[in-house]
Amino acid sequence: MYLHGTSTINGQGHLEIGGCDTTDLAQRYGTPLYIMDETLVRQRCREYVDAFRASGLKYQVAYASKAFCVMAMCRIVEEEGMSLDVVSDGELYTALQAGFPAERIHFHGNNKTPYEIEMALEAKIGCFVVDNFVELQLLNAIAGEKRQKANVLLRITPGVEAHTHEYISTGQEDSKFGFDLGNGSAYQAVREAATLPNLTLLGIHSHIGSQIFEVDGFKLAVEKVADFAVQVRGELDVTFTVVNLGGGFGIRYVDGDTPLAVSEYVKAITDSVKERFGAANYPLPEIWTEPGRSIVGDAGTTLYTVGTYKDIPGVRKYVAVDGGMTDNPRPALYDSKYEAMLANRAGEPGEEVVSIAGKCCESGDMLIWDVRLPVVTSGDLLAVACTGAYNYAMASNYNRIRRPAVVFVKNGRSDVVVTRESYENLVGNDLIPERMRAKVGTPSL
Ligand SMILES: *Cc1c(COP(=O)(O)O)cnc(C)c1O
Repeated sequence: MYLHGTSTINGQGHLEIGGCDTTDLAQRYGTPLYIMDETLVRQRCREYVDAFRASGLKYQVAYASKAFCVMAMCRIVEEEGMSLDVVSDGELYTALQAGFPAERIHFHGNNKTPYEIEMALEAKIGCFVVDNFVELQLLNAIAGEKRQKANVLLRITPGVEAHTHEYISTGQEDSKFGFDLGNGSAYQAVREAATLPNLTLLGIHSHIGSQIFEVDGFKLAVEKVADFAVQVRGELDVTFTVVNLGGGFGIRYVDGDTPLAVSEYVKAITDSVKERFGAANYPLPEIWTEPGRSIVGDAGTTLYTVGTYKDIPGVRKYVAVDGGMTDNPRPALYDSKYEAMLANRAGEPGEEVVSIAGKCCESGDMLIWDVRLPVVTSGDLLAVACTGAYNYAMASNYNRIRRPAVVFVKNGRSDVVVTRESYENLVGNDLIPERMRAKVGTPSL
């Protein structure tokens, strides 16, 4: 496993993160345990902010909170001077409870409910990223009832599909998201938004994909957005003051992943904005961006205890850990790859190739196929790297497995920011109808 951020191997041969020995963390908090390298999270935040500051453009860096949305994370984002994207009432509630300034919150999503829109208007959030015509009318109507004006960006589908190693330009985007640029609906949406009395149209938004390793897709998106902005200004007399280019910046999960430095992504974007908008004599818009994975992904490590193993001669050795698809569904969902090491024997060389299984009743509950480790035995601690994004956020209680705790580590300190779920949490929303209650006892645990 590749050591990055504050991760090192200490004198006892243990994996140490944020100055904390992971074997101590396991003892203190139990496993599975999500460990977040706070220094690395803050470093990633600063890389974005510094790169935008260097560009001289006006900007907002909005952390896409869906990647890992807990109150302590919202605090970090606030302290680092960034904005925050939310996609649901739950994420909005989390941000507000954490005291995140509402004016720096942007609300996304292709199906915001009337209730969510009311909640966001009441909180006076900074901006709605409007996805479709139904929402455009709904937001205008609800804002009108509340005698408010809502700031909006229109999410357009620019016809750029970015893949990890390539991008393709498609004429017509078949997507559930946004107003299509190619078929004229983006144009129509601008015309409509500009006339709706309770909306202030700030500009447009485009998000081309995720885990992107190249800048070409972003540059192409800037070109398309700029051409559209120029057209709309000429024909509809609407000038965009904000252009949001979304997130999707890739990170290194395993050997062979080749992300660029944050500064390189940002420079490519800001340079093409200056070039394309400048060439058209268009007042340079404020540039917003929305990194999620690249803020928290590589700062996360999940620590498990090895339980059973099963060696099938000539086939493979399965090593089972005390978590699995419940705390990390990405391998099962997307066939995502991860690297791992034994946290308690971090200095020892790899001696055998094993596959890491979870404890759920699913053959597909595998975390890693084929990883080289020292000869693993029960009680070893397995650390899986780069689990900071879309792990806790996507965790479930399948098999009634309790969600792990999350700790932030920094300079030798560890702070629990989410406690491990309790049995009470598990049954907390369950109700037994009166007619079934006769025989319910209190289990003694
Ligand atoms: C998911 C998402 C992001 C963040 O994507 P990452 O790949 O995590 O950086 C940003 N903007 C929008 C609209 C998204 O849906």
